[in-house]
Amino acid sequence: MTRTSAIRTPLAETAARRTVQVARPRLPTAEAILPYLQRIDAARWYSNFGPLLMELEARLAHRFGDGAQVVTTVNATQALTLALKAMDLPAGSLCATPSWTFVATAHAVRQAGLIPWFVDVDAETWMLDPAAVRERLAHAPGPVSAVIPVAAFGHMPDLDAWRAFQDDTAVRVLVDAAAAFDAASDASLPIVVSLHATKVMGLGEGGFLATRDPDLARQVRRLTSFGFDGTREALCVATNAKLSEYAAAVGLAALDGWPADRLRWFMAAQALRGAVAAVPQVRFQSGWGARWTTSVCVVGLPDGTADTVETVLRAEGVDTRRWWGEGCHLGAVFADCPRDRLPNTERLARSTIGLPFAIDLTAAQVGRVAEALALALPGQT
Ligand SMILES: *Cc1c(COP(=O)(O)O)cnc(C)c1O
Repeated sequence: MTRTSAIRTPLAETAARRTVQVARPRLPTAEAILPYLQRIDAARWYSNFGPLLMELEARLAHRFGDGAQVVTTVNATQALTLALKAMDLPAGSLCATPSWTFVATAHAVRQAGLIPWFVDVDAETWMLDPAAVRERLAHAPGPVSAVIPVAAFGHMPDLDAWRAFQDDTAVRVLVDAAAAFDAASDASLPIVVSLHATKVMGLGEGGFLATRDPDLARQVRRLTSFGFDGTREALCVATNAKLSEYAAAVGLAALDGWPADRLRWFMAAQALRGAVAAVPQVRFQSGWGARWTTSVCVVGLPDGTADTVETVLRAEGVDTRRWWGEGCHLGAVFADCPRDRLPNTERLARSTIGLPFAIDLTAAQVGRVAEALALALPGQT
């Protein structure tokens, strides 16, 4: 018996059956970062807006076109918090946010001294809809000073519509595009992008605000740096949220690799989409891996099936993740925050799951994900 099972599980087969991980970040290699580290050695400038950070910010700003400025921060959560603080909104006023987002959005609102007001997302886009939010404003439990549309898993909301919303309502709009490095190219509204290792373009821990408003950029910069602005005088209550030259080195190497990496992300997405097309009950986000790319693959399933599909996939060695849990409103720390009706959020919580996705997802892994989904959702062919 022992011999038989040894033959049936040779090394290769064990490797093939290893769990398909839900994410496997890949940042620039040591080799790619080395030239930048050598520049740091030569300059002996390690933080406080050194040459590498200035270059990183300029290259990021370039992606948003003329007139855009970028302020980097230690992470996107800080960028969201400090952007809200820089807007100088009435303390304790409401900030409309989706509950269908990563908890960082709601944490940022709280850290900025505002109260999250959870509003439902659109059933199709999984994002706040400006027309729907405008209608709900009349039902808010208090004055609403700001709104944070969230780019769901990297899918950009319609910024033209959000600009019109801001013009009509005087409610300030801050875009949480943390996962939307690829799709974010418009800074006509203040927009925050994450450079975390798990995002599509990462440097470890980092984030940035892009904006066409020079006053906002300047105030956020002060808030990241003790309230300093050219002198050593603290001009406002602030924090330290600067990125070091070492982080900038990784970021510059990552940007060098981005055009090729972007193609790899698209190719991985196309392979997964193609294989999963055999299971028509699985729906991808509109444009995912086709018009825009991101580091996660969250799919829609028939209502109420997420738990069972997840169980079958786990049993097949295919890891999954509920990236946004059941929505922020159910988390204990946000339980006291006011909320609107959230039927779409509740439906998304029980009908979406994150599938394995990576820049170097192999054909064998793609096959295993598709096979497990077919097993979990039989019929309807
Ligand atoms: C990742 C993420 C954040 C937080 O970004 P950090 O850089 O990790 O702070 C915020 N909002 C959303 C929607 C995210 O996906």
